[in-house]
Amino acid sequence: MKVLKFGGTSVGSPERMKKLLDIVDVSQRQIVVLSAVSGTTNSLVEISQAYLVGDKPKAATLIAALKNKYEVFITELFASEQYLAQGKEVIDYHFNLLSGFANDLFTNIEDKVILAQGELLSTTLYHVYLKDIGVPSVLLPALDFMKIDEDNEPVVDYITSHLTPLLDKHPDNNLFITQGYICRNSFGEIDNLRRGGSDYTASLIGAGIRSEEVQIWTDIDGMHNNDPRIVKGTQPIAQLSFDEAAELAYFGAKILHPQSVFPAQKYKIPVRLLNTMDPQAQGTLITIESEKNKIKSIAAKDDITAIRVQSSRMLLAYGFLRRIFEVFERYKTSIDMITTSEVAVSLTIDDTRYLKEIEAELNTFGTVEIETHQTIICVVGDFGTDKHGYAARVLEAVKHIPLRMISYGGSEHNLSLLLKTDEKTEALRSLHSRLF
Ligand code: ADP
Ligand code: ASP
Ligand code: MG
Repeated sequence: MKVLKFGGTSVGSPERMKKLLDIVDVSQRQIVVLSAVSGTTNSLVEISQAYLVGDKPKAATLIAALKNKYEVFITELFASEQYLAQGKEVIDYHFNLLSGFANDLFTNIEDKVILAQGELLSTTLYHVYLKDIGVPSVLLPALDFMKIDEDNEPVVDYITSHLTPLLDKHPDNNLFITQGYICRNSFGEIDNLRRGGSDYTASLIGAGIRSEEVQIWTDIDGMHNNDPRIVKGTQPIAQLSFDEAAELAYFGAKILHPQSVFPAQKYKIPVRLLNTMDPQAQGTLITIESEKNKIKSIAAKDDITAIRVQSSRMLLAYGFLRRIFEVFERYKTSIDMITTSEVAVSLTIDDTRYLKEIEAELNTFGTVEIETHQTIICVVGDFGTDKHGYAARVLEAVKHIPLRMISYGGSEHNLSLLLKTDEKTEALRSLHSRLF
């Protein structure tokens, strides 16, 4: 059974939604994961922000504007009066719920409920549309099988044990529709897999049912060899290994949610990145195979903070790094890059919620310097230890740009650079023209 995920732009208009059936083969049993209609989650974030600061009139205005968009959407989606009326009921239900929060205490719990409405709307409307045109389908509530634990980690066994019976209930049905992004947390509350999380949903479902393939349908013909929003003339990459794809996703290639590769990788499920606007394009195939002797792609991750701890006590001492890492562990803050010398260690984080506390604790070890507005640029490819010349080519391309950190050798397929965010565009362009 295949899992097909369609992103926001792929369901972004009634016309696009109707076109999904050019791609989905209804003669095959498959699960279709949908994102919210493009722009919806951003609007929901704004609505929630307005409630959080107590600005109810602003929330009401935003809700009315979004509702209006959906009212227009359904008049173009449905052919019959009967199903148009059903579509209207769906919209009324979800928008009444959004408006209802004006009467409640507004906390993080309500925030998550608001953010979930986009995927609930898109999938329900698509399900009603399929009824309207006479295509049988089953709507699977993701909240019944998608779960994260106390550490916000998805639980694949839970997905398997809760999703399999739902599928088994409909042996004669081919097309299953479900929501990307949304899940329940360890308290049973509505939660989500973070922005862009529908890719993660697809990979998790793929892992949960040991799917033959996961397809991520989006608005571009696969993973490109650089960020197409910044660099001109980027090219799609035909094949990537799971490790390479994971590295690119984690270090900023927006086409994939940062964690979305891992579940598929664990169960060796091939992932294809495909273009809804050009379904015949080859796209990118992600498998265990890795192509030798090639630099594959470049990605960049912003909003990085660099921390340097300098102390002569580090000299010839053991256990020093462990004590530094323990500080980050206590504040559940993950470290991305690290470089060390005999008397200093530099590392980077992107989650700065506990920066003040971390800084205070690190101060007991030595001098601490913190720099914000940094970007990690990650060059991915085959950098095996027997290769020579690749690192030199990368550094040659950025020789006119000040570098804060260089990380090489941590894995065989990544060389990372840390530089000021202001230098990012120039670095990406220069690397692109020298490496490809
Ligand atoms: P969806 O809504 O389908 O999930 P996203 O907007 O999340 O789509 O991801 C697709 C976008 O990712 C592309 O339109 C492109 O601008 C951006 N992107 C950034 N880096 C890359 C890359 N290396 N390769 C392809 N797309 C990329
Ligand atoms: N709708 C969610 C978002 O915009 C999830 C997704 O599109 O993948 O972040
Ligand atoms: Mg996305």
